[in-house]
Amino acid sequence: MHLGHLVGALKNWADLQGEYECFFMVADWHAHMSEYERPAEIRKYTFENVIDWISCGVNPQKSVLFVQSHIKEHTELHLLLSNITPLGWLERCPTYKEQLRELKRRDLYTYGFLGYPVLQSADILAYKAAVVPVGEDQLAHLELTREILRRFHHIYKKKVFPEPKGILTKSPRLLGTDNRKMSKSYDNFIALSDAPDTVLKKTAQMITDPERIKRSDSGHPKVCNVFSYFKMFAPETEEGIHQDCIRARIACTGCKKKLAAVLNEVLAPIRQKRKELNKDKSKVEDILSQGAKKAKKVAGETLAEVKKLIGLY
Ligand code: SF4
Repeated sequence: MHLGHLVGALKNWADLQGEYECFFMVADWHAHMSEYERPAEIRKYTFENVIDWISCGVNPQKSVLFVQSHIKEHTELHLLLSNITPLGWLERCPTYKEQLRELKRRDLYTYGFLGYPVLQSADILAYKAAVVPVGEDQLAHLELTREILRRFHHIYKKKVFPEPKGILTKSPRLLGTDNRKMSKSYDNFIALSDAPDTVLKKTAQMITDPERIKRSDSGHPKVCNVFSYFKMFAPETEEGIHQDCIRARIACTGCKKKLAAVLNEVLAPIRQKRKELNKDKSKVEDILSQGAKKAKKVAGETLAEVKKLIGLY
């Protein structure tokens, strides 16, 4: 996972554990929809994901951590919901169109990829989730989940699922090193596992104020992505960097080096925890196996209720 996940999801997840009974899932079936030609990577990332979560404060003693493909009920519910979901609802989904446009290196014109939001609906509804922590770009999918469940309730004349609400993270979205949304697919991310040298190299590539051509030019921090990182990860430095930038007291190269130092300080305890967990892989496997048992119990009860209602038993 990367810095965008840290500020956009993981910090929020860690906090939610104090308020809610949480289920956190590695979405490996979702990963397969776009990465179906790279099986070794899916396996590796499943493990890495869980290590990242725990290293950033997700606590297996408080929450249920599991792998999506360990709970077959998700696929069964996905199929049942697919049968009642009109094609037009999926074709007009904004993230579907965006991904087709952006991920040109992968062939995503598949039957499965179009149904991506239906599988997400199954992930949510299998647990009768009341709230779902989402990024802004996922709000459309959550609305689609609500539309699907309303249609389900309308057809089968019974309310089975609560309408899930989205919890948006308070942090603004973090852009990647190329000023697009930070994403693994765009290769513009700083990973939680990146070594200090890699962080230095990646920050050096970041796009700054395009109007600052010469060292003596005043900068415009408001339009500079490097500055937005300072605001997010070291707010105490914001005023100083702002002044140094507008008065041209600092070169962009020096400013980026300072940012790398800030990020490496943020990442140091996460790297340490990752190292410990990497040494004890059986512990992570045990956490996932315990989580699967708990998740399966809840999802199994939901499926039994759904199947009985729609005449499949
Ligand atoms: S000095 Fe820093 S904040 Fe100003 S434009 Fe350069 S990188 Fe951005």
